[in-house]
Formats: sequence, C-alpha cells, structure tokens
Amino acid sequence: MKSEKIGQKHIVCISGGKDSMATAILALEHGEPLDMAVYCEVMFDKETSGEVPEHRDFVYNRMIPWLEGNGVPVHVVRGKKTYLDRFYHVIRRSKTVGYNGKFRGFPMGGKCIINRECKMDPLNRFLKNTGDAIQYVGIAADEEKRLERLDGKTKVSLLAKYGYTEADAAALCKKYGLYSPVYEFSARNGCWFCPNCRDAEFSEFKRRHPDLWQRLLDLGKTENLVSYGFKYGKTIEEVDRDISMQAAQMRLWE
Ligand code: SF4
Repeated sequence: MKSEKIGQKHIVCISGGKDSMATAILALEHGEPLDMAVYCEVMFDKETSGEVPEHRDFVYNRMIPWLEGNGVPVHVVRGKKTYLDRFYHVIRRSKTVGYNGKFRGFPMGGKCIINRECKMDPLNRFLKNTGDAIQYVGIAADEEKRLERLDGKTKVSLLAKYGYTEADAAALCKKYGLYSPVYEFSARNGCWFCPNCRDAEFSEFKRRHPDLWQRLLDLGKTENLVSYGFKYGKTIEEVDRDISMQAAQMRLWE
C-alpha cells in the first residue's frame, strides 16, 4: 500500500462469509486501518431477505454487533430492486424472437443478474460516495487466480498479506465465535434462491424453510416466463423432484 494517500478511507466489504469476516478480524488483530465495513443485503422482496435465515440472524445479531463493539461502523446497503422485481421484469427490447413481452424469470446460473443489479450496483454506488478508498477484499492466500485480479493498491487482500488460506480463515472465525452457521449445511454463503446451490444444499434448505422453498415452486408456475429454467436448464419442479427422491433414498438407507 505504498501509494496510500493521507486521509484515505479503509473499507471492508463484508458478507459475513468466512473470508470477509476473517479479513475484518485480521485488520483488528494487526492494527490495520479500518474505517468502516459495508454489508449489502440482497432482498427477495421488500420484506424478505435473500440471505439464508440462519445467516441473516448471524449478520444482524453477531457480526454487526461485534464489529461495532470493536469500533468499526457497519453500513447496511440494499438495492432498489429485489429478486422479484427482476423476476417480473418485462422484456421489451430483445432481439430474440418471442422474448419481448415476457417476464425475465429466474436468474441464470453463471450470468446472475441479481449479483449485478441487487448486489454490486448498490455496493458500487456506496463505495463511489466514500471517495478514493482502499478496499480489503476477502480473497484467501490459496486463491491465486482471484488474487491476480487485485491491483494491490485500491483493492488488497489481508488474508494474502498474513498468509491465511481459506481453511485458516474458517479457523480464525471459529476462534472468535464468528463462523456463520450457514456452513453447517452449505459449502458457501449466498442467496437461498441461488441457482449455483448444490441439490444437497437445496434439500436441507427446503427441510429447514419449506415456506421459502414453496415461494420458488409458486414462481415456477408463473405464466409467460421467457424461460422456465431454474438451475442450469432444470425447472424448479425438476429440482424439487430430484431432491425429494434423494431425500427418500437417504431415509431408506437410514
Ligand atoms: S449468491 Fe447466487 S443468486 Fe445470489 S447474487 Fe450470487 S450468484 Fe446470484
């Protein structure tokens, strides 16, 4: 950080996942400058969070109080648009025959519009208003490819600086009691409607939160969607059938 300017703010963009959480812990442990944390909550609709409920509880009842108790103000940002706004967006200017006039439907895995419009856009708007800041990014020492994308000046990794792998980041969070409970049943922290979730994760999510899962099944019955694909070509009904079959097999084996 040789090019650092006097008065430049230091920010951690924090999701509550192990890598960003460990980054904040490391900043505090090592006395790195840290002016604020910013957390972006993707919303399913105006009232319902896109966070897995167990993780949302962790964020609001554990992560934010801990950071603020350690002198790090946390800014919560949300986009103007929700998942449902994007789902019911009517396509008007597509060059693809048959698309115009239809609802956009489920976000595509690998090209998630929710990430851009409901997460990165509000985060970037917030960061723009903070001026010329240095961001601590939660990329671990063993994520070489992702580290290559950091410029090392305005975006830096404290995990790499202090030699923390992803496993080390998890261990550090556990040491502080700041390891999200979402990792008990999911390999990654993300939206509960994420098409990148594995079937086993959806299965456990459905078991814990049948009401939320039902909302996806109901969306799958919407008329006039441009596509009914929910997870890499599979409809939500097909994913539901697969995870129900797998759950039934598990019960047989038990
Ligand atoms: S977690 Fe999944 S659904 Fe949520 S923004 Fe990221 S890619 Fe999109």
